[in-house]
Amino acid sequence: MKIGVLALQGAVREHLHLLEKLGVEAVAVKKQEQLQDLDGLIFPGGESTTMGKLIRKYDLLEPIRDFYREGKPLLGTCAGLILLAGQIEDADEPHLAVMDMTVKRNAFGRQVDSFEAKLAIKEVADDFHAVFIRAPLITHVGKEVEVLAEVNGEVVAARQGNVLCASFHPELTDDARFHQFFVNMVREAVALR
Ligand code: GLN
Repeated sequence: MKIGVLALQGAVREHLHLLEKLGVEAVAVKKQEQLQDLDGLIFPGGESTTMGKLIRKYDLLEPIRDFYREGKPLLGTCAGLILLAGQIEDADEPHLAVMDMTVKRNAFGRQVDSFEAKLAIKEVADDFHAVFIRAPLITHVGKEVEVLAEVNGEVVAARQGNVLCASFHPELTDDARFHQFFVNMVREAVALR
């Protein structure tokens, strides 16, 4: 099993590090040719508008959508979650649009730019230490989307089929349980091929 981390911008190294800690072969992805040998792909935190532009500039938009259509799992954290959403509030167009949900960028406002919270995440942990940095919120989910975690009644983690996302940064702590959950999704998808 081999999992890629999209490495155009953002917190790439932290994801690679956690995957390696779980004993999974992990690679930084910059080119579409690399997608062929991967079983799953992670979109890191960073700046979603910049990442969206780079995805288009390097002709990765359709190849990543094809990768998704082949049933290969995707994980997006923070800016990565924004890339996956079908709709972005106040934006003209979405990026990959592989999850039926609407997101609002920088939704916690400037006053609370960053904060940390202990989260119950369904199927993952009851006490996950989640780090939020200029985080987006999921403001609407379609019927196919399963909500996995909430903060004050607002959705911050969700799954739709083979796509998983979190508005926080599980890659910024040593707790590998969220990544383990994704690795299990990838393992199951590989077994089905
Ligand atoms: N605010 C960023 C964006 O909208 C996301 C922040 C992050 O990934 N830490 O792209």
